[in-house]
Amino acid sequence: MKVVLIGVGQAGGKITQSLAKFDYEMGFEAVRGALAVNTARPDLQELDIDTVLIGQDRVKGHGVGGDNELGAEIMQENATEILDELDGRITTEAEAVVVVAGLGGGTGSGGAPMLARELKRIHEKPVYVLGVLPGKDEGGLYQANAGRSLKTAAREADSLLLVDNDAWRGSGDSVAAGYERINDAISQRVGLLLASGEAVDGVGESVVDSSEIINTLRGGGISSIGYASAQASEDPGENVNTITSVTRNALLTSMSLPNAVEAESALLVIAGDPERISRKGVERARRWVEDETGSMEVRGGDFPLGSDKLAALVVLSGVERSARVDQFMERANEAAKSQGGTTDPDEFTNDDLDNLL
Ligand code: GDP
Repeated sequence: MKVVLIGVGQAGGKITQSLAKFDYEMGFEAVRGALAVNTARPDLQELDIDTVLIGQDRVKGHGVGGDNELGAEIMQENATEILDELDGRITTEAEAVVVVAGLGGGTGSGGAPMLARELKRIHEKPVYVLGVLPGKDEGGLYQANAGRSLKTAAREADSLLLVDNDAWRGSGDSVAAGYERINDAISQRVGLLLASGEAVDGVGESVVDSSEIINTLRGGGISSIGYASAQASEDPGENVNTITSVTRNALLTSMSLPNAVEAESALLVIAGDPERISRKGVERARRWVEDETGSMEVRGGDFPLGSDKLAALVVLSGVERSARVDQFMERANEAAKSQGGTTDPDEFTNDDLDNLL
């Protein structure tokens, strides 16, 4: 799926750069443009991709300091400038736009949902938000900001792909090393998903294409992604269990939003050498995903790649009813109260998310 990426805020810019780099190094050519937008000049100076500094008149390049309402206001005031900057980058070949942001900060938290809304007003293409949820140990302001941003992004975007900062962190990691590991994991998983159907080695029996990704995400709401791989035998007949077990590992142990398995729809992509892919294994794995997610809408396809391993990439869509999202919204609510209270008692309930379905 050919996309244009727009990173908003510090995390958004870093993850966008990391995704663009992965795509470039792998030669997939799914990322057709990458732009970073921020209110903080120093964050942009660290990036190699194209950048736009916004809100200079308001914050003089110093950032919004965790004030996501200010982040949203500045984005609104500068939307036209950003859309102009994007003109020519979002060409007809781009099949979707992905806005990337940390939901817990200020510029990305407030700005990403606002930008998604503006993009949707002028483009027919799907607009997705790739949003990072703060880990449990992060401060109250991050939790409260992310609660608000999550609800708005899920409403404005065609799908909000959530990555929990606790999902892929190593146990002994420092914060910086943790970010690097998570950003690499995001790039690999999302990068492979975007690449599926783009640059393929050989022809598979049922190669996945962009329309399957778009249709899986069509229901809106919140989505998540997981990935697992294992060594495969040269004989496809011996890989039935390999395919079912990588699928199981992807769904049960590696999702970007952990412990949220119940879904409205799903996509299962099996990546690897087409000669090694067992059709029986793929069909079994797909049926297992149907049982596990309770979804009657599980799409599947191959991603032919020259490798002696087989991998499963799982995308779940419509996971907003999960206990995991409820728990997060409770955490955000508690944090907002201790930050000085929320004026709207319904702000952190999950009803809006339910109503999306
Ligand atoms: P902004 O620049 O005001 O939008 O704020 P940030 O992008 O720094 O957002 C803060 C949130 O993003 C916090 O929850 C951080 O844990 C998270 N964050 C910051 N940098 C990174 C990063 O490089 N990777 C990941 N995964 N999360 C990050």
